[in-house]
Amino acid sequence: MIPVKGYAAQDPQTDLAPWSFERREVGPHDVQFDILFCGVCHSDLHQIKNDWFPGIFPMVPGHEIVGRIVKVGDHVKNFKVGDLAGTGCMVDSCQVCENCKQDLEQYCLEGSTQTYNSYERDGKTPTYGGYSNSIVVREEFVLHISEKLDLAATAPLLCAGITTYSPLRHWKVGKGHKLAVLGLGGLGHMAVKFGVAFGAEVTVLSTSPKKEEDAKKLGAHHFVVTTDPEQIKAATGTFDFILDTVSAEHDFNMYLSLLRTDGTMICVGVPSEPAKIAAFSLLGGRKSLAGSGIGGIAETQEMLDFCAEHGIVSDIEMIDIKDITKSYERMEKGDVRYRFVIDMATL
Ligand SMILES: [Zn+2]
Ligand SMILES: [Zn+2]
Repeated sequence: MIPVKGYAAQDPQTDLAPWSFERREVGPHDVQFDILFCGVCHSDLHQIKNDWFPGIFPMVPGHEIVGRIVKVGDHVKNFKVGDLAGTGCMVDSCQVCENCKQDLEQYCLEGSTQTYNSYERDGKTPTYGGYSNSIVVREEFVLHISEKLDLAATAPLLCAGITTYSPLRHWKVGKGHKLAVLGLGGLGHMAVKFGVAFGAEVTVLSTSPKKEEDAKKLGAHHFVVTTDPEQIKAATGTFDFILDTVSAEHDFNMYLSLLRTDGTMICVGVPSEPAKIAAFSLLGGRKSLAGSGIGGIAETQEMLDFCAEHGIVSDIEMIDIKDITKSYERMEKGDVRYRFVIDMATL
């Protein structure tokens, strides 16, 4: 076994603290890489607090992982020692079901293995995430990371990036479309960058008027303060798509009213409580309410390659791992521009 240092929550009531654990030896199809940076996703906080479902403890969060390869198994074909590598939200899946065969491992019918707070395919070995100094992942779930991009700012692409890239590609959002991005946080700021890169006319919907300047700097064409009834009235019935990145409670019916006929609202944020949706919000104007979860491995690689080609990374604030709890508090208040990334040299 490989000894690893990390930060873990021992139970949902306790803050993250240093914890040592072991990872499996590098198998013939495995890649081991030293973790250099790991992004801090809102779902890390939701999971250590058991907001969604009872978690597996001790829990080492982190699924926006980048680093450099230190060992590869004998049968590994596509990676070599010294390469940069990344891993996102999944580290395995059944590989044979209908969805896996179509590069949709995130929707594996057997359930994909999450990078942390999950079990390996044996159903009993817990997985531990990227708030740690090294990880072993089977080759099929390792991503190539370009040397051209800032490495720390690349980490959030593995979750925030693919989570917003995948639905925009699936619904073919681009030129001629009016796209509204609801919420300007870790996910939202990436959605703005991709929406603009794909040629859409992008509006940011936010409760915070203070974010207007930033939204414009990120490339957004318009900004709507959602607490201003006049601005909401003017935006009603105008958007082809709304990408909803908000993980706090919000009124879906109000946002659905901003769609034009045949418009689609796509949820990628995960509030802790179920939303109440009136059928009238959908049938008046034949609207669709949809959801999308991360992306498959092939699409994640496509997104990373697109970002390398177009110079797209996340806007980040680097933190020391000792400040993780303080950073969570700031993240909950929306006080981060726009993603915390842990410098793993501080572990
Ligand atoms: Zn995430
Ligand atoms: Zn599968």
